[in-house]
Amino acid sequence: MAHDRKHGESLIMALLHKRAASLEKGEPLTPPIVNAAKYALPGAPDHAFPYGRFDNPTWAAVEAAIGVLEDAETICFPSGMAAVTAALMATLGPKSKLLLPSDGYYTVRVLMDEFIKQHDIETTEIPTAEISAHPVEGYDLVWIETPSNPGLDVCDIAAITERAHAAGARVIVDNTTATPLLQRPLDLGADLTVSSDTKALAGHSDVLFGHVSGRDETLMARVRQWRKLSGSTPGPAEAYLAYRGLMTLELRLSRMCESAAELANLFYSHKAAASVRFPGLADDPSYKIATAQMSAPGFVIGVTFVDETTAEKFITDCAAIFAATSFGGIQTSAERRGRWGDAVPDGYVRLSVGCEPTAALVDAISNTLDTL
Ligand code: PLP
Repeated sequence: MAHDRKHGESLIMALLHKRAASLEKGEPLTPPIVNAAKYALPGAPDHAFPYGRFDNPTWAAVEAAIGVLEDAETICFPSGMAAVTAALMATLGPKSKLLLPSDGYYTVRVLMDEFIKQHDIETTEIPTAEISAHPVEGYDLVWIETPSNPGLDVCDIAAITERAHAAGARVIVDNTTATPLLQRPLDLGADLTVSSDTKALAGHSDVLFGHVSGRDETLMARVRQWRKLSGSTPGPAEAYLAYRGLMTLELRLSRMCESAAELANLFYSHKAAASVRFPGLADDPSYKIATAQMSAPGFVIGVTFVDETTAEKFITDCAAIFAATSFGGIQTSAERRGRWGDAVPDGYVRLSVGCEPTAALVDAISNTLDTL
């Protein structure tokens, strides 16, 4: 996958075989879960593993693996929000000016309002679809989330980054909805990429996890320092689960993306759906940039039904849909985002397409649509 198919496949090959290539005879193929607060540390404290809050061999294994896909230094965190916070703390200073999407994951805005703004940080909130044209002069940081969650608008990472860098601003991309296999923000010039690996990257709905990746050593040293000083550290068992999920990311994404493309067409042509958002539909507002910037339009679909009741009925009546928040898991799941207060219509459902056999999933959803 990734934009150039050959490059994407070579990344997957490297991901799957990297650890094996470094093993001594008798060492396990899968990384051990190292439960350690203390390590042997006589004399000078000059080892890579001096204390459990500083580093851990299971974190190192998952970081090395994600780092292959990102082609960059990677630091893991106990959740996507922990990664978001680390990236913000590493890049913002007193009186920093920040451009933030008004329609991205809402918790980032709440974090800003309730904690980070108290350090005299000024934020301007702009819809994702307008960020490409918005002036970046005077800002220290431009935060991008593309495709945005939940609205699935897309913005041009390379163009924004070029303008931002010329104006002296850094760019951070939340790449959660795409993953580094479908979209490569660092290759497009972004300074850091952050991800909630709770979603597709770990992919089994059994772990909260996150990471920050970047190619600027100084910036990454600050991210690492934040983790060490704030104690925002993942558990080794969670790091192992993320590692194990990552090994099948490409396989899962292939099925999820294939099914999502079919389902988007189904919603598009079905009278029960008032409208549909999917960056892979030719007349979707995100289509042009998504096609240029992503190797596939993803596995999340936005479907608007006529009202809240119809939307809820769709979710609860379809046996192939698990009614839950979050996205990127094995099972297809959905929720009305309006229930969290997102600025979407009451009948807007965010559908996360899972790994079920495509024909069976499309049949189940089609049959439910016919009854609405
Ligand atoms: N970024 C995006 C785009 C998300 O959708 C989420 C969670 O839904 C997060 C960050 C936060 O991730 P986590 O729930 O793992 O803290």
